[in-house]
Formats: sequence, structure tokens, C-alpha cells
Amino acid sequence: MVKICCIGAGYVGGPTMAVIALKCPEIEVVVVDIAAPRINAWNSDHLPIYEPGLDDVVKQCRGKNLFFSTDVEKHVAEADIVFVSVNTPTKTQGLGAGKAADLTYWESAARMIADVSKSDKIVVEKSTVPVKTAEAIERILTHNRKGINFTILSNPEFLAEGTAIADLFKPDRVLIGGRETPEGQKAIHSLKNVYAHWVPEDRILCTNLWSAELSKLAANAFLAQRISSVNAMSALCEATGADVSQVSHSIGTDSRIGPKFLNASVGFGGSCFQKDILNLVYICECNGLPEVANYWKQVIKVNDYQKMRFVNRVVSSMFNTVSGKKIAILGFAFKKDTGDTRETPAIDVCKGLLGDKAKLSIYDPQVTEDQIMRDLAMKKFDWDHPAHLQPLSPTSNKQVSVVWDAYEAIKDAHGICIMTEWDEFKNLDYQKVYDSMQKPAFIFDGRNVVNVNKLREIGFIVYSIGKPLDS
Ligand code: NAD
Repeated sequence: MVKICCIGAGYVGGPTMAVIALKCPEIEVVVVDIAAPRINAWNSDHLPIYEPGLDDVVKQCRGKNLFFSTDVEKHVAEADIVFVSVNTPTKTQGLGAGKAADLTYWESAARMIADVSKSDKIVVEKSTVPVKTAEAIERILTHNRKGINFTILSNPEFLAEGTAIADLFKPDRVLIGGRETPEGQKAIHSLKNVYAHWVPEDRILCTNLWSAELSKLAANAFLAQRISSVNAMSALCEATGADVSQVSHSIGTDSRIGPKFLNASVGFGGSCFQKDILNLVYICECNGLPEVANYWKQVIKVNDYQKMRFVNRVVSSMFNTVSGKKIAILGFAFKKDTGDTRETPAIDVCKGLLGDKAKLSIYDPQVTEDQIMRDLAMKKFDWDHPAHLQPLSPTSNKQVSVVWDAYEAIKDAHGICIMTEWDEFKNLDYQKVYDSMQKPAFIFDGRNVVNVNKLREIGFIVYSIGKPLDS
């Protein structure tokens, strides 16, 4: 029986391994993590992450061929294939702070693999890493070699949070990069055999190691760039009376452009886009390509600008001050169908409004009060002063309350900011909402989910990204 071990039981390691276990019943899959609470949660009825369909997949194979454990060394030692899916955040201090990927977790995982291994292994990069990381990992593994062969593959993950299970069941492609040596090709073949259980052969792409590593950074940079492009257009739409939805539809019908990822919004979030572009910027700078670095930097700058524009719009619409006014924040996760708040635009918007002394009442169906308070206590990334990434003092509880019902958040509010496109925000009883609010009642839709005309008929003053403004 082939044994797989995955180091890192997070948003990627957990779902990807659960799907491999489901699709490959003859393979034993063990997901290991140093974080005991996370592993305990994976072994309980309350999984540590929210993903539609995940509970069902885990229930079908946990205890049969899918296991979660904190006994990292034992399961790594026994595995034939070791996936490494640890976090690779942006460095916060030292060389490359604020841009470069922090590979501390990766390096310690690699050293541990080298220490505990007693048999040959394929080591798979599942985390998103800078191009050429495999070279460094190879050096660490082979340096400690005791007659054991380690073959490194890059197999970056393209799932999107919120649709992870659907993406894993039917991926656009699976990418496997390896050395062009006989061992490298043999290892590619072994990993291909795993995915071939459910992924059609023409969707499994094989490349060299560096192309695979760079493709993941490039994919995230292109996706984020598309969002920044449409968001840049949204600002121009507001200035001219054009409607960004109509512009998006018009350009999206061009088959060279395509309709996906053209929704204007308050900005992108999530743990990956910003971190991976910063990393790309750093790699370009290190390779003597400052103009290329500047090009990608601009994607993040437009994203920051979009969030700032939103805050300014809220404050200026509400008679140039939100001081002492109650504002309901609907949604805090960076997108719907996840409880993940990493880099969510809601953090920056809330901080902007708190800076103008607003009182916030926050509701998200999947994010806890603890998480929201922790997020609001951290300072945002400062492009010009990356070394100054210090935590702020925790925000006063009096200015922020977190509630468990949208209507409760909205009651007596002067304004509503929609930060996440949860379906329930489309279907609220907006007459009831209007009746419970202070007047004039404002809605600032950061995700373009509400029916602007209907709401205006009720009496709301509505701001929707990139749409003609209320006269
Ligand atoms: P995560 O923070 O949710 O999970 C990482 C886990 O690794 C944590 O539970 C941590 O405790 C564990 N870990 C760290 N060092 C360890 C060690 N030495 N031994 C055992 N466990 C260890 O991160 P994530 O969101 O799952 O992302 C993982 C990687 O995948 C990152 O590189 C990320 O960029 C990439 N990625 C993420 C997504 C996404 O949507 N989240 C999508 C594609 C790729």
C-alpha cells in the first residue's frame, strides 16, 4: 500500500488530502501538524475550516484511509510520498521584510524529513514557494543524506477557498514539475498515478521544476491583476457615469478576454494574492528587474487604493463624518463560503472607519468575535515602511461589537457596509432593514450584491462600486 503523509493540516493540506483519500481508497493518507488543536478539530465533528462539502468527504474516509495526527516524525518516516503544505507567509523582519516569502516553516519541515527518513521518498512542494525553492530544499535533504534518495516535485495547489472541494474534484489542471533526470521523471509518473484516479490525463500538466514553481506565483498575480484592472475601471466609471457591470459584460464577451473574474469590488483579500505578488516583486528585484517589479507592485497599490476609496466614499457620503455613528458591517471573511479573514478588505475598511470614530456592529455567519478582534488589533501592511509592521494596541471594545444576526447588526445603524458577498445579504428583507435604521439610511455595497434600483425605491441612499451614484 502506498503511504502519503502531508505536513500541514491547513486550508490546503486538509481538503487536498481528504480528496486524495476519497479518490484513492487503496492509498493511506495521514495529515500531520504541529498544532494539536487543529488536529483535534480535524478528528472531531467540528472541522477547523469551513468549506462546502468538506465534512462529507472527511466523514467518508476518516478512520479508513484518512488520518490526522500530531505524530509528525513517525508518519513522515513511514511515507513514500511526503507533501509539504506548511504556511509560507510574508517575512516580517530581516532581509526582504514585507515582501519575501518566509520559508522558516518549510526549512524546518525539510530538515525534519531529512532527519527521520529511513527510506527513499518523493517530497512534494504543495505550499506556494518562490521559484528555485526546490534547489534549496534539495540541498538540505541531500546534505543530511544517509544513503536515502529524495526526489523533489513541485505540485502547486490552485484551489480557491469557498469552492475547494469542487475545485479539487474537477481541477482545471494539476501541475507537476520535476527534474528532467530519470529519477525526476519516475517521481512525476508516481504522482501522476495518484491524480489519474480521477483527473483526466490531458488535465495533468508536467513541466520542469522552476516552471511549476513560477506558474503558481504567475497564476495568482494574473488573477489579482484582473481584479485590480476592473477595480481601476470602476473608479473611472464612477467619475464618468459609466456602469462597471455593463463595461465588464461588454469586454467579457470578447473571447480573448472572457467573462470570469471581472466583478468590481472593494478589493481582493485572502492569504495568497498579496503575499504571492509581494514575493514576485521581491524575486524580480533580486533578479535585477526593477521595472517588472514595479509593474506587479501596482496591482497591490490599486487594491489598497480601492479600499481607501471605499472608506472615503462612506465618510464623505455621510456628511463628512462617521464619528459616533453606528455602521453595520455585513461580512468579514475575504469571500463567501469561507471563515478565512486573512487579508480581508473588511479589516482595512473597519480600521478606516474606526479612525473616523465610527461605532461598528459586525456580523459574519462564519467568523468568530475573537478572530475579528484579533484582526482589528493588527496593523496593515505599509508599503513604504515594511520594517514597521508592529501590532497596534487592541481596538476598544466600546467601538466594536460583534453580533450573530444581520438584523441585530443593522438595528439603529446610520449606514451598512457590505464587505462579503454572502448569499443571505442579497435576500435580506430590505424594507424591514430600512424601517429599523436611522434616516437617511445609507448602504455601501462593496460586493455589488444588492439590487440598487429596488433599494433606492425603498428610500435607501445606495453606493455600489463602479455604478452611477445617487443624484
Ligand atoms: P495554513 O496556515 O492554513 O496551514 C499551514 C499549516 O502548517 C498550519 O496548520 C501549521 O501549523 C502547519 N505547520 C507549519 N510548520 C509545520 C511543521 N514544521 N510541521 C507540521 N506542521 C506545520 O496555510 P494554508 O492556507 O493551508 O496554505 C499552505 C500553503 O498553500 C501556503 O504556501 C499557501 O500560499 C498555499 N496555498 C494556499 C491556498 C489557500 O487558498 N489557502 C491556495 C493555494 C495555495
